[in-house]
Amino acid sequence: MDEKAKAVLQDVQDKHVRFIDLQFTDVLGATKSVTIPANQLEDALTRGVWFDGSSIQGFARIQESDMFLRPDSRTYRVLPWTGDTLPLRARIICDVHGPDGEPFEGDPRYALKRQVARAEALGYTFNVGPELEFFLFRKNGDLHHALPHDVGGYFDFSPNDEAQRVRADIVSALQALKIDVEAEHHEVAIGQHEIDFRYADALHTADNAITFKYTVKGIAAKYGLFATFMPKPIFGINGSGMHCHQSLVSTTTGANAFFDGNSPVFKLSTLAQSFVAGQLAHARALAAIVAPTVNSYKRLTPGYEAPVYICWAQRNRSALIRVPRYSPGYEQATRVELRFPDPSANPYLAFAVMLAAGLDGIEKGMKPPAPVTDDVYEWGDEERLANGVAVLPGSLKEALDAMESDPLIREALGEHIYTAFLRAKLLEWDEYRTHVSEWERERYLETL
Ligand code: GLU
Ligand code: MG
Repeated sequence: MDEKAKAVLQDVQDKHVRFIDLQFTDVLGATKSVTIPANQLEDALTRGVWFDGSSIQGFARIQESDMFLRPDSRTYRVLPWTGDTLPLRARIICDVHGPDGEPFEGDPRYALKRQVARAEALGYTFNVGPELEFFLFRKNGDLHHALPHDVGGYFDFSPNDEAQRVRADIVSALQALKIDVEAEHHEVAIGQHEIDFRYADALHTADNAITFKYTVKGIAAKYGLFATFMPKPIFGINGSGMHCHQSLVSTTTGANAFFDGNSPVFKLSTLAQSFVAGQLAHARALAAIVAPTVNSYKRLTPGYEAPVYICWAQRNRSALIRVPRYSPGYEQATRVELRFPDPSANPYLAFAVMLAAGLDGIEKGMKPPAPVTDDVYEWGDEERLANGVAVLPGSLKEALDAMESDPLIREALGEHIYTAFLRAKLLEWDEYRTHVSEWERERYLETL
C-alpha cells in the first residue's frame, strides 16, 4: 500500500468514518457507488472490490459482468453532510478494471486518462476550468417554481434571498470537499445560479464536476428545494451551460503553452490557435458528447447567450469559442473558453473528446478561420455563409449523425463506450421523436 493509501486508512480511523462510498460513473455520467464498511477499506485499497457491472449503463454484458474497482486514494473525501444524524461517510473515486485486471475500456475515467496521456506524451497537461450553471426549484405538488421568483438578474445582490443562503451552504460543503470555489453568483435567468471552482488538470476537474453536481443537489434537498442541471428547464429564458476554460501547460515547467506575447491574435500561440482550429473543425461531432440530451438543443438557440454558430471571437458570447481578454502579468491565465458544453454531459467523456479534437488540430497543424467581431446572432444566413460560419446541430439526432460521420469521437472514446453511448442516445431520441407533446395537442388538436 502506498503512502497516500496509508494516510486514508489513518484518517478513517482518526475520524471514526463508518462507511466508504466507492464511486465511479456510467457512460451517461451518472454517479454509481458501492458502499463498504470502514473495516473493509484496507482490503479494498490493496486488492480492489469486486462488483457486478451488468446493471450499469454501458458497462458489461451479463456473461462478463464481474469487474472490480480500484480506489484512487487521492480522491478520498469525508462527506460534509454526514456525521450529525447520519453515520460519518467518506467517498473515494475508483477506476474500473475487468476480470483480467486490465483497465476496463467502458470506464469513462479511463477514456479521459487515455487522452490525457496523449497530451502528456507531447509534453502538455490539459487544464480545464468549468462553469456549471444550474437552477434551484421549489417543488409544490406537481408544480415547479424557479427560486427566487421575486428577484432576478445578473449579479443581483439580495441579502434576504433564500437562494443566497443555499448557495453559501453549497460553497461551504464544496470547500470541505477540497473544491476551491472562486466565485458564486446569481445568473441571468430567474432561479439560475453559477458557482465556479478553480481550474485543474482535466481528470481532477472531471472528478470535481461529478462531486459538484451531487453536492449541489444534496444541499438543495436539505432546504426542501431541488437543483437541476437540465440544460434548458424553462422556455424563453437562458438555459444552463458548462462553459469550459481550457489551456495546455508544459508538463515540465508549468508554463502556459497557449501564451505568446508576440502573437497578433489575442496573444495566442500557434499551438493554441491549432487547438482552437481542431475544436472548430470537429465541433458538430463533439456536440453529441458535450451537449448529449434532447433538451441540450433547446438551449443552443439564438438569443440566450448560448452559442449556435461555429466560430471564435474575443468578446462575443454567441461564438462557440471565446478568448478572454489578456491582461499584462496574467500570462498563466491565457485560455480559450468553449461555450457549448452543458452540465448534462459526462465530464470525463466531454473533456476526453474536447482534448482529442484540440490535439488533432495541433498534430495536423490546423489554422483557425479569422475570428468574428460582429454579433453573429444578428447575421442572416447569407452573411453567415459568406463568412464561412457553419451552425451547430439543431437536435440530438443531428449531433449523433455528425458524430457517426466523424471518426474522431469513436477513436477517442474507444469502441466500447462509443457503441454503448450511441445505442443509449438513439433510444433516447426515438422515445422523444414518437412522444406526443402538449405543444402538439395545443397546436393541432382543435385546429385539424
Ligand atoms: N446561460 C448561458 C448559456 O447557456 C451563459 C451565460 C453566461 O455567459 O454566463 O450558456
Ligand atoms: Mg455563466
